[in-house]
Formats: sequence, C-alpha cells, structure tokens
Amino acid sequence: MKKDLGRINGKTQLIGLFATPIGHSLSPAMHNLAFKKLGLNYAYLAFEVGNEQLEDVVTGMRALNVRGFNVSMPNKMNILPYLDELADSAKFTGAVNTVVNENGRLIGHSTDGMGYVRNLKEHGIDITGKKMTLVGSGGAATPIAIQSALEGLGEISIFARNDAFFEKAEENVRIINEEMKGSSCKAKVFPLEDQDALRAEIASSDIFTNGTGVGMKPLEGLSVIEDTSMLRPDLIVTDVVYNPVTSKLLEQAQAAGCNTINGLGMMLWQGAMAFEYWTGREMPVQYIKEQMFE
Ligand code: NAD
Repeated sequence: MKKDLGRINGKTQLIGLFATPIGHSLSPAMHNLAFKKLGLNYAYLAFEVGNEQLEDVVTGMRALNVRGFNVSMPNKMNILPYLDELADSAKFTGAVNTVVNENGRLIGHSTDGMGYVRNLKEHGIDITGKKMTLVGSGGAATPIAIQSALEGLGEISIFARNDAFFEKAEENVRIINEEMKGSSCKAKVFPLEDQDALRAEIASSDIFTNGTGVGMKPLEGLSVIEDTSMLRPDLIVTDVVYNPVTSKLLEQAQAAGCNTINGLGMMLWQGAMAFEYWTGREMPVQYIKEQMFE
C-alpha cells in the first residue's frame, strides 16, 4: 500500500472497556499507545455500560469472538455470572477487571493486585515472607490483600473503618486464612479506630499501605495516619492514590525517611498485566509512563 492508511484495517481486533462513568479513563490512551508502539493490530475503545446492559454486552463480545475486554465500576462484581471461569485472582477477590477469551471460554481475572505486587518488584521489593499493614477493604485494597497473599506475603494486618467495608475486611481475612490452600499468609483484621493496634502492627511490618481514597479528592490533604511517630525510616509506605502524585501520607512518610511508592505504578501495571493476557507481549510501561505522565 502506498499511503499510510492508519492503524485500523480489516484484521484489527477490538478490546473494550465497559464501565460508567467512563470518560475520565486513562486505559484507552495507555493500551492504544502500547499497541501502536509494538505494532500490534488491536484497538481499545471505552463504552458507557452499566449493570443493565452488561449481560447483553458480554453476549455481544462472545458473538464477535473478541480477544478480551476490561470492566470497571459498576460492573466488576456483576460480571461474574456471565463468565465461564475465574482465575484465582478474581475468585478470591470476588471481582473481575480483565476478561480473556480462551478459545470461546471467557476467563475472568483481577489484575489490580497483580499490578500492585509487580510494581513493588519493579521497585526492588520482594513481598515473600514479609508483613504488611493495609488500610481499607474496598475495590483497591481487596485485590492488594488477596494477590499479596497469593504471591507469598507472610502476614497481613487489615485495618478498616467502622463502615460498610468492615465486613468485607473480615471476609478478606477469612478467605486468606481459610480458603487459599496454597498460601501460608496469616491475616488479621482490626478497626481503624484502634490506634494502639495500628501502632503495634505497623511497628512489626515491613510495608504499610493505604488502600483507601483518603488523600485524593474530596479527601485531598488528609491521611490515614494521624500520629507520624508510627512511621520509621526502614518502613516501605505505599499508597493507591496517584492524584496527587505525593499524597499527604507519602509526604508524612518521606519526612520520616521512608521509601515511598504512589499508586501510579499499580495503575500502569494492572493495565500491563491485562495487555499481556490479551497479546502475549509485555507492555512498554516505561514508554507509556513517559508519554502519559512526564
Ligand atoms: P471503595 O469505595 O471500593 O473503597 C473505599 C475504601 O476506603 C473502603 O475500605 C472504605 O472503608 C475506606 N474509606 C473511605 N473513606 C475513608 C476514610 N475517611 N477513612 C478511612 N477509610 C476510608 O474505593 P476503591 O475503588 O477501593 O478506591 C479507593 C482509592 O483507590 C481511590 O482513590 C481510587 O482512585 C484508588 N484506586 C487506585 C488504583 C490504582 O491502580 N492505583 C486502583 C483502584 C483504585
């Protein structure tokens, strides 16, 4: 062909994202940049889809025999009954963000926790046998707890506020202790209001993680840590928040001399894990980071 006719042709494969609201999502830019960079013939498009349309959408994706798709809120839990199989990441989390079509069978995965663990690896941190104190039990904190336990974490202490999420924290602890046969991780749950317990658990932890939206709008400038004497220089402090890039918690941790990691890497690597499932190729994460965030 003499002219550059663009990237889309008769063989281009669609990867969809189904969520609502969707306009703010960074995933289409991230995946399309990566497809272009690696010369892969895929296109990633976001669609405004809620629970009401979800079953029809999955039926449509099966009929089109797409390679896979992402779902985000409010569909991460509701999609489970429409899939053929769940990988451990999704089964223990009770949520799916990535679907892969393996010869007509739709397999659900949850790559958020994988992205978290992989990002730690990229920072030279191996979680094997380590202890983590984690705040939260929602959509971000749950896959962090589950995947860390699946990937060799030794101990996890989960702190949750006395709200609707406390039961989910108890459930996550039960799943890690009782249902994960191959894991030796020991999990405990505490109310976030118990500051003495928080101090004690952080004191014996290698990693402290904020898995809540505290620190991000509308809670910008707030931190899950009130007493910064709980932080010490050899503690690794991570946050799911990436906007702002340095949350109040990470500011406190930096002032205390801790190694700090924000939520940007988790977000990029959860996409990279999905990308790898669909294409069998590693996403050029450093390139994407430079293009999108630097
Ligand atoms: P969610 O609503 O599912 O869960 C919120 C959690 O925060 C719950 O455990 C809740 O108890 C806790 N919480 C809320 N307000 C609190 C407060 N004032 N004090 C203490 N705990 C509080 O939300 P989510 O989907 O888990 O998202 C949480 C944050 O994580 C958001 O800021 C989101 O942008 C971010 N996130 C980041 C990534 C990433 O890849 N970095 C991925 C998903 C979500």
